[in-house]
Amino acid sequence: MNFDVDLFVIGAGSGGVRAARIAAGYGARAMVAEEFRIGGTCVIRGCVPKKLLAYASRFADDFADAAGYGWRVGETRFDWPTMVAAKEKEITRLSAIYRANLEKAGVQIIEERAEIAGPQSVLLASGRLISAKHILIATGAAPELAPHVPGLEHAISSNEIFDLKSFPSRLLIVGGGYIAVEFASIFARLGAMVTQVMRADNILRGFDEDMRTGLRDELCHAGILFGFGRLPTRIEKRDGALHVALSNGDLLVVDQILVATGRRPNTDKLGLENVGVALDAAGAVKVDAWSATNVPGIHAVGDVTNRINLTPVAIREGHAFADHVFGGKPVAVDHESVPSAVFATPEIGAVGLTEAQARERYDIVDIYRSSFRPMKATLSGRREHTIMKLVVDGASDRVLGAHILGHEAGEMIQLLGIAVKMKATKADLDATMAVHPTAAEELVTMRTRTARYERKPG
Ligand code: NDP
Repeated sequence: MNFDVDLFVIGAGSGGVRAARIAAGYGARAMVAEEFRIGGTCVIRGCVPKKLLAYASRFADDFADAAGYGWRVGETRFDWPTMVAAKEKEITRLSAIYRANLEKAGVQIIEERAEIAGPQSVLLASGRLISAKHILIATGAAPELAPHVPGLEHAISSNEIFDLKSFPSRLLIVGGGYIAVEFASIFARLGAMVTQVMRADNILRGFDEDMRTGLRDELCHAGILFGFGRLPTRIEKRDGALHVALSNGDLLVVDQILVATGRRPNTDKLGLENVGVALDAAGAVKVDAWSATNVPGIHAVGDVTNRINLTPVAIREGHAFADHVFGGKPVAVDHESVPSAVFATPEIGAVGLTEAQARERYDIVDIYRSSFRPMKATLSGRREHTIMKLVVDGASDRVLGAHILGHEAGEMIQLLGIAVKMKATKADLDATMAVHPTAAEELVTMRTRTARYERKPG
């Protein structure tokens, strides 16, 4: 049978763009559809603008620290519209690069919504039907706002926060995950009065306990008011402000409410029911190790599959799909020991097992932990702690996990991730010469074990 294209990709985000480009490189006639902006969540309203805002927020610390280093800094004032405009310019530039790279690779770009019409056909919003030998679902995920309380329509998600017309001087953040924590840290430093509430008793479920508690303390010190075990019960808009009732009886008046309570895979109204693509309980597309769905010829990559919802993972999945299907190179993506970072200030960088996970899975677990004041904070007088922690298998000496709370923890964990992936032992780290004076040198100079946990037989 003759198809219009060899590959039709739905969604021009991180995973979809990579898959289309690599497939085209193997000679496939590839087409990608995007209903919003080329680049997807990461480039347009996720990782990239978030990191730019994190940079903006950290000037507050630099100004405050400057005096300790002999600088006299005059009036400092943050201008939100200037930052929003600068951010917009940069993401527009990046989106254009994504577009140019697709075009250079020979991929056809369709800027409209596409839905699956049949096992090998896609219907565009304009009514055009395209036949495709292979279909790739790369539609990502969207914010899921909870809890469903009266007035929730007055709250915003991470989609809207980047482009607010005016700076929210009083901000309530609901949730304790990546997005909630990063924005709390950013807006507090930019000068907002930030209150963060969540159902749990601490931030960042799933991270190592030392990192969770350490970052919570730093964020408290940065002025964030935490409310654990409480959520909004009602939101009312009155006199240009939002009046929020919380489950513990507190009442708050704020300018904006950011709800960051997780993301839902974008599988609605995609025509998946037309062909019987199986979804899991969370509404994500079910895939095997090759990103294949239960329907022959239809694959899915990235957040829509809800495996590990990180850009580099989506990119790898998209690349591996194209290598396998169009390049004859069957390599499954390895989802083990994926390093990640939380871009609060200070940052968390983590790879591998937490202490709690290691103690569940291994008989002997050794912990090496160091907490110190970073050198930069000494002259500035800033109260700040860096925490580094290595989780080691006591039997084999292998490093099972590494966790860093501190400046540039994201950069450090990227490199330490190589060692953990290569199954480095604690002795390998010890044998590595330190770079002095750095914070990272602590990772290779932690000689003394902080704790050993041995599982009792039976
Ligand atoms: P997370 O899964 O990280 O956090 C969700 C938060 O919402 C948790 O605090 C969770 O509470 C809470 N929550 C979930 N459901 C409810 C509910 N029904 N009522 C009240 N609270 C609820 O999601 P995010 O939205 O922060 O981020 C989505 C994903 O995006 C992340 O998982 C991550 O993969 C990715 N991301 C990665 C970043 C990075 O790498 N730096 C940055 C931003 C996003 P509880 O803990 O109690 O379950």
